[in-house]
Amino acid sequence: MAVALRCQGAERNDCISRIWKGVLVPQFTDAYARKFYYLRLSVTDVCNFRCTYCLPDGYKPQGTSNKSFLSLDEIRRVTRAFAAAGTEKVRLTGGEPTLRRDFVDIIAAVRENTAIRHIAVTTNGYRLARDVAQWRSAGLSALNVSIDSLDPRQFHAITGQDKFHQVMQGIDAAFAAGFTKVKVNTVLMRDLNHRSLTTFLDWIRCRPIQLRFIELMETGEGGAVFRRYHISGEVIRTQLLQQGWQLQVRTRSDGPAQVFRHPDYQGEIGLIMPYEKDFCASCNRLRVSAMGNLHLCLFGDGGVPLRDLLAADDQMPALQARIAISLGHKKQTHFLHQGNTGITQNLSFIGG
Ligand code: SAM
Ligand code: SF4
Repeated sequence: MAVALRCQGAERNDCISRIWKGVLVPQFTDAYARKFYYLRLSVTDVCNFRCTYCLPDGYKPQGTSNKSFLSLDEIRRVTRAFAAAGTEKVRLTGGEPTLRRDFVDIIAAVRENTAIRHIAVTTNGYRLARDVAQWRSAGLSALNVSIDSLDPRQFHAITGQDKFHQVMQGIDAAFAAGFTKVKVNTVLMRDLNHRSLTTFLDWIRCRPIQLRFIELMETGEGGAVFRRYHISGEVIRTQLLQQGWQLQVRTRSDGPAQVFRHPDYQGEIGLIMPYEKDFCASCNRLRVSAMGNLHLCLFGDGGVPLRDLLAADDQMPALQARIAISLGHKKQTHFLHQGNTGITQNLSFIGG
């Protein structure tokens, strides 16, 4: 049955992509009128790195040992439900998402949703050099690689893996495979890298890399690391502005970064400052964990189980209804300032 659309222009195109079996699916929206265009989907908790602020003792299975992560069909269904309700960007994360043997198939499954215009991955870069061309062929459109230091020894000390050169080769391979831009995530840490802006700027002067400093966030297991190493991104912002870098305007499915450009540099700098006032006002993203729980906030309490509604295609309306109702409980902001990290023991658990 045809649906009469009252919307026009770009809004009309959005409406058309939200029609499911003749019915217009409402855009996922919360009680504060925030619209959700962006899904971060964790596909595994497992990781092979031991970043000091995330998994300093390496990956350890949580809870029961016979758990299984979302299957390919479940990933297909959950992304279809989000796509039909206005999601236009999906980020695959983890743990280390690229450790999944079916990672290429996962990308292809997400790509089946034509409404999803951007498929991104956040990776430690371990499999990049070997596999990035395959990921691109399967439909991956954007890459975030985590690199906290450009000094190989410090990289090793932070990640527990002597893989700096392998990760760098991976970035070269990404450009060779046709990616025109690569984003690099750098967790800003007092005394470790907060005085290294010049080194990072030299690196991106002639490379189309958006280097994003992420403020270290407190997690349940990371209290001591947080107290020792957290420093505000303001220290970077001040230097950038003094050196003539200019803040750019965000688009609606962008992540949370403030992006700066400078005419002398091919690369860009991003700043992700979750401790800054009003950070949550522009929240446009939701998370689904590798166990199939919807998380309304990285630092929320509990999660809404979706897995019982991912078993068959005809559960889609019920799945969308559960997500839409849950959104009514999304809080206006996180409570990190009060030291409340919710259930997040470390970021590999929900996906950073
Ligand atoms: N393993 C992949 C990786 O490292 O890119 C994906 C998962 S990781 C949890 C996603 C991002 O979260 C990484 O860029 C990582 O540096 C960042 N991250 C992890 N723990 C963090 C914390 N406590 N504060 C800020 N960023 C963190
Ligand atoms: Fe693994 Fe990423 Fe966590 Fe590092 S930040 S331990 S690479 S999940």
